[in-house]
Amino acid sequence: MSKSWNKRTQAVHGGIRRSQYNEVSESIFLTQGFVYDNAEQAEARFIQAGDDEFIYARYGNPTVRMFEERIAALEGAEDGFATASGMAAVNGALTAMLKAGDHVVSARALFGSCLYILENILSRYGVEVTFVDGTDLDQWRAALRPDTKAVFFESMSNPTLEVIDIEAVSELAHAVGATVVVDNVFSTPVYSRAIAQGADVVVYSATKHIDGQGRALGGIILGTRDFIRGTVEPYLKHTGGALSPFNAWVMLKGLETMALRVNAQTDSAQKIAEALDGNPALDRLLYPGLKAHAQNALIQTQLGGKGGTVLSLDIRGGKDAAFAFLNAMTIPVISNNLGDAKSIATHPATTTHQRLSEEQRSALGITPGLVRLSVGLEDTDDLIADLLAALAAAQA
Ligand SMILES: *Cc1c(COP(=O)(O)O)cnc(C)c1O
Repeated sequence: MSKSWNKRTQAVHGGIRRSQYNEVSESIFLTQGFVYDNAEQAEARFIQAGDDEFIYARYGNPTVRMFEERIAALEGAEDGFATASGMAAVNGALTAMLKAGDHVVSARALFGSCLYILENILSRYGVEVTFVDGTDLDQWRAALRPDTKAVFFESMSNPTLEVIDIEAVSELAHAVGATVVVDNVFSTPVYSRAIAQGADVVVYSATKHIDGQGRALGGIILGTRDFIRGTVEPYLKHTGGALSPFNAWVMLKGLETMALRVNAQTDSAQKIAEALDGNPALDRLLYPGLKAHAQNALIQTQLGGKGGTVLSLDIRGGKDAAFAFLNAMTIPVISNNLGDAKSIATHPATTTHQRLSEEQRSALGITPGLVRLSVGLEDTDDLIADLLAALAAAQA
């Protein structure tokens, strides 16, 4: 394993562990536990497990370990802890490090379940959370305090695709000694350089682009070896958010093709955004890859100009028009995953963000006409034709 490999090589070979059979494809170790040669070995392993020694699958498993090491290598992180879902990763990263009396600053524009953790759960345990507009550095500056323990944000927000400046926010946070935790799902591991840009901890829902084919839930927390093994592992191995070995294997195979998929999906999303931009059936078209996007300049430096695989369309005519548009499409399926090979359309106001008040939704730009479109691997021209026809139907 070479540290100098580029992302695509790491994504195929990183973290591989071969058994005595020297298999080519990664093995699935579907076992909850491991047998010790004798009582002395069991005792020694509970004191300090070596690199190739495992105890119980809630603590670690060879297939899961391959996934952790592969994605850590890809992301440029020292280590990683894999979790049963993306939410187990977000919750684990935050609750492993926080205690009553701590202060957190978080961007307001968050995936619904992330918002629930920050707004409803942490406060129950005496953690104070201040919410800011993540794109406004003055608000971060004003909210950060000497007792701020962590900052949290989605580097590209769901579903309004605001891009947050990882480098600038990290600099402000580090000045007060806070740990920067970035939910990087929309930026994807393919384009991310979050750790080099200053993030201390990066979390992914592997359910999205890493699997990329809608099969399994998973998540990962990435950071320094100290943070992962010293803070995260003790918390997660005792509270039980472990990734199943089978799902880890699905994710390992997903990583091998992730760059090909994400690049193709991003190229397609860019072309679709350009084709639909200015369409009279749209009140707004949100895509970070468009020049007119408020953070397009930041996209150039932070993500190498890549706008990602998701765009959001605000259909003129509100909820009725949005529903007519969703029901008229023939290729994208109506569902709520993203990053999938199949294009997926979601109506956030009535599904993923239904729990929020009307007021909260409007503050986040989640209007009744907003449709989130995750662009898949279908033919781009087929998708454009289908979307144009559905837009016309929505205005009929
Ligand atoms: C989907 C998602 C999650 C949660 O991931 P699960 O695997 O569904 O638990 C967290 N954050 C963001 C930004 C997401 O899109």
